[in-house]
Amino acid sequence: MSTPPVTATAARLTGKRAVVTGGARGIGAAIVRRLAAEGATVALLDLLSDPGETVAADVGGRFVPVDLSDTEATRAGLADAMDDLGGIDILVNNAGILRFSPLLEIPVEDWDLMFAINTRPMLVTTQVAARRMIRDGGAGTIINLASMAGKAGGAGQAHYAASKAAVIALTRVTALELGCHGITANCLCPGYVLTEMGADTRTSEDMELWSSYSPLGRLGEPDDVSAVAAFLASPDAAYLTGQAFNVTGGMVMH
Ligand code: NAD
Repeated sequence: MSTPPVTATAARLTGKRAVVTGGARGIGAAIVRRLAAEGATVALLDLLSDPGETVAADVGGRFVPVDLSDTEATRAGLADAMDDLGGIDILVNNAGILRFSPLLEIPVEDWDLMFAINTRPMLVTTQVAARRMIRDGGAGTIINLASMAGKAGGAGQAHYAASKAAVIALTRVTALELGCHGITANCLCPGYVLTEMGADTRTSEDMELWSSYSPLGRLGEPDDVSAVAAFLASPDAAYLTGQAFNVTGGMVMH
């Protein structure tokens, strides 16, 4: 069964200014398009210039080329995007990478790389964006992309799973410390979503097996995740903070 088409019936995000990292493709691009469809003005940060420019042009937004593993470039790129938007109401920390390796063979360089891309930039962007939110009078929301691996682990993905568990913890601390400014922070824990991530090793047997783990009998599509991100970005989610929401088709229920 395929995902129903996006049907944003209300412009819940009119007047909101959003920045999405890793917005050039996959889940991030779906989030950019969905936030824009609901009325937000969106800027995206990514390594990939051609698809990044295309997504930005499609939504009338701004593309900022940034390698998020470079802390100074990340600070400067986000500041540039926020200046262009005139502020920031919604930060979506989505960019990430996945590597597979048996636990006993993970090179420490790969461990460090995973945290340098999946986790550390979220601290940096949260610091830069939250300072601006507070300076501009408070309020705002931060949405971090974790993974079901951050809760359930994942054989062959120790470094990825650990980096995503850290994202869940960072999100909880963000909620605890910034709630007094009216800033909420939540994370999404997608299951198996059909994107470029993992595509090079994906087999039809894998897809059949993982589909069978969902009571819905299918894998996720980027729009399954973007719909939940748009909800979290909207006033409908005003009283949610510090949560880690599974978007797994029921593969994970805790
Ligand atoms: P994807 O590989 O299709 O997209 C990731 C995006 O992040 C790309 O546009 C890429 O260029 C960007 N990116 C990667 N490294 C970067 C860097 N150093 N600087 C700037 N941009 C960089 O992956 P996706 O499936 O869309 O994943 C999006 C998020 O969702 C990731 O955080 C991922 O861990 C998480 N997630 C994905 C799945 C899945 O099954 N696809 C499951 C759980 C969680």
